[in-house]
Amino acid sequence: MENCLFCKIANGEIPSNKLYEDDELLAFYDIDPQAPVHFLVIPKQHIGSCAEVDESNSALVAKAFELISKLAKELGIDSFRVVSNCGADAGQSVPHLHFHVMAGREFGWPAG
Ligand code: 5GP
Ligand code: ZN
Repeated sequence: MENCLFCKIANGEIPSNKLYEDDELLAFYDIDPQAPVHFLVIPKQHIGSCAEVDESNSALVAKAFELISKLAKELGIDSFRVVSNCGADAGQSVPHLHFHVMAGREFGWPAG
C-alpha cells in the first residue's frame, strides 16, 4: 500500500535491520527498542491490523507465529512477550499488522 511505512520496509524501499525474510514475512529490529531484545514480525502483504485478519489472510498470521517461535529459539530467548497493538487507543502507530517480540527484561501485567 502506498505511503505505508512497513510496506516500504517490506519492499526494501526503506532499510531495516533484518533478522529474517522470505516471500511472505519479514522480521526486523525495532528502531526504538523497549526491551534488550525487541523485533517486529510483519506480513509483507498489507494488512492494517489484527482487526483486518480474516480467512483470506489468517494463514500468514499462523506463519508469523511459527516464525516467532523459531526466532526465539535461535536467539535463545525462552521468556518473551508478543504484542500487537490494534487501533490508536491501543497504541498502534503504524497501520500495518505487526507483532512486537520483546525479551530480556521483566514485563509488568496488565500492560499499560
Ligand atoms: P506500534 O506503535 O504501531 O505498535 O509499533 C510500531 C513500531 O514500529 C514502534 O515500536 C516503532 O519504534 C517502530 N518503528 C517506527 N518506525 C520504524 C522504522 O522506520 N524502522 C523500524 N525498524 N522500526 C520502526
Ligand atoms: Zn503496509
